[in-house]
Amino acid sequence: MKGKTLCVFAGSNSGRQRGAGNGGESAYAKAAQALGEELARRDIGLVYGGARVGLMGTVANAALAGGGAVTGVLPEFLANTELTHPNLTELRIVDSMQQRKALMATLSDGFIALPGGLGTFDEILEVLTGGQLGLHDKPCAALNVQGYFDPLLSLLAHAARERFLKPAHRDMLIVGAAPGPLLEAMARYQAPRDGKWLGDNSPSSKTRS
Ligand code: AMP
Repeated sequence: MKGKTLCVFAGSNSGRQRGAGNGGESAYAKAAQALGEELARRDIGLVYGGARVGLMGTVANAALAGGGAVTGVLPEFLANTELTHPNLTELRIVDSMQQRKALMATLSDGFIALPGGLGTFDEILEVLTGGQLGLHDKPCAALNVQGYFDPLLSLLAHAARERFLKPAHRDMLIVGAAPGPLLEAMARYQAPRDGKWLGDNSPSSKTRS
């Protein structure tokens, strides 16, 4: 993915101090740091939400420290707050949250979720939904630090078992515990060609019956 740009969704909080030694960084912060460093090392640009706080700030700072290019995309109502990162390579201001997600997607060749909250879930699920509908064929991944995303993976498996989601679409989400192998899996990604609908709900089965 050298020379490409990836979008990282990540908590605007840093999460519980899991796995931290005495006064040390948590496993979540270490993973965000390692991802930012790895992106810079591989000459992969970073696009993200533009904040200086939480895991968002950690991944951006690590990429910048490694000499990487970092673009923040912020809606106007969040810009010029004390949360905005002051030293990005580029800061893009847009009118709304919807425009922010659209621009982040346009600027990026793939998407990675770090641990986060509702904003992070919304963002990664939106790009997966776009992939499912064939609106893009970019890889979507989750850095599964200390199993943080296991409950989401269980929910997706449940949705597939209950026939609300095709296994091929559940499998679009690339999951890994370390940045390097995750980036390599993203580079190998092939988008599924399956239509969204299952069995009797597929438009082609309707026209056949
Ligand atoms: P959350 O996981 O709820 O903390 O939300 C983080 C995600 O939502 C990030 O990937 C951002 O794109 C976006 N976001 C949430 N809060 C902010 C903020 N204060 N500044 C910039 N982006 C934010």
